[in-house]
Amino acid sequence: MTCPRVEVRLDRVGRNARTLVDRLGSIGIAVCGVTKATGGSPKVARELLAGGVTALAESRVENVERLRRAGIATEIVLVRSPMPSQAERVVAAADISLNSEVDVIELLSSSAVRAGRLHGVVLMIELGDLREGLMPGDVLDAARRVASMPGVVLRGVGVNLACQSGVIPDASNMAELSAIAVCVEADLGVELELVSGGNSANLAWALKEPADTGRINHLRLGESILLGRDPLTRAPIAGLATDAFTVVGEVIESKIKPTRPRGSTGQNAFGDAVGDAVGSEGRDRSCRRVIVALGRQDVDPDGLEMPEGYRIVGASSDHLVVEAGCDAPVPGAELRFGVNYSALLRAMTSASVLTCFTDEAPA
Ligand SMILES: *Cc1c(COP(=O)(O)O)cnc(C)c1O
Repeated sequence: MTCPRVEVRLDRVGRNARTLVDRLGSIGIAVCGVTKATGGSPKVARELLAGGVTALAESRVENVERLRRAGIATEIVLVRSPMPSQAERVVAAADISLNSEVDVIELLSSSAVRAGRLHGVVLMIELGDLREGLMPGDVLDAARRVASMPGVVLRGVGVNLACQSGVIPDASNMAELSAIAVCVEADLGVELELVSGGNSANLAWALKEPADTGRINHLRLGESILLGRDPLTRAPIAGLATDAFTVVGEVIESKIKPTRPRGSTGQNAFGDAVGDAVGSEGRDRSCRRVIVALGRQDVDPDGLEMPEGYRIVGASSDHLVVEAGCDAPVPGAELRFGVNYSALLRAMTSASVLTCFTDEAPA
């Protein structure tokens, strides 16, 4: 089969989605399924919908357009703040966008009026992680301005933590979001449909007993559904599959070689000083070194989980060098690697990696 490839076990993605949708549904939280790590894969999107997510989310407008071209009519949220230069495409393809710039919402408003559409706006609030968001003191004024614009409707407020600075969603920052929602509702005399508490990093907070989620009724989940892990610790989430995605590469060389480079050394291709670093045992010896036709163009090598008995030595644009403990794979053999979020993202969006889908039950 074609290598390198990423194998997607859709049944596991679907089961993970269903499990989280059910757990969160029981405490009044709806799940929006985020497909951005798959480059807007329509097959993954359909699996998330079959698992019960109420909407889809994407970070790039071209991926939203890809989902639309595949015939997906469900509500889609653009989770990265819209580029002003893309306002028309955003309004044409997405139903809702997360926003923190009133001037950009003005552009969405005029684009929506021209297109005869109504675009939903969720105002993002900065609550500590220091990526996107209005400062809390500016939210009321922004909400009033959005409420007065034609073509857009204020659908809710939201926050995104744990992405830029690793700030943990907790009772305190979530209560702050709830309080802001209540305050906007009182000021404008409306009920906000969406109070969006965050991403996969919110699960530990949301599922803690006893449930105390305040006004929060919405989470945007990607990594936890796709990889079954909590992004705060990368620990597996109980009851979820962590192996829905596997990267497969083909061996192109397999030889016994010394572990220590010979000759004087400078920087390697990616600027690292390897020096006279030696193999896993920390001494000068020989071992089986295997080269896999898999490089930084295909995956993030640091995010690969090595098969049992293998150890990563290094990677360049097209070569992954691994040390094999006992196995001696021959050229042409395939090696299979688990992925973290970064490796998944690169593999699914790389033009040189084939994506294969399977719905088969676990082998
Ligand atoms: C990526 C992203 C998400 C989803 O994050 P996961 O950790 O994959 O669940 C949610 N919201 C925003 C704004 C994002 O950028």
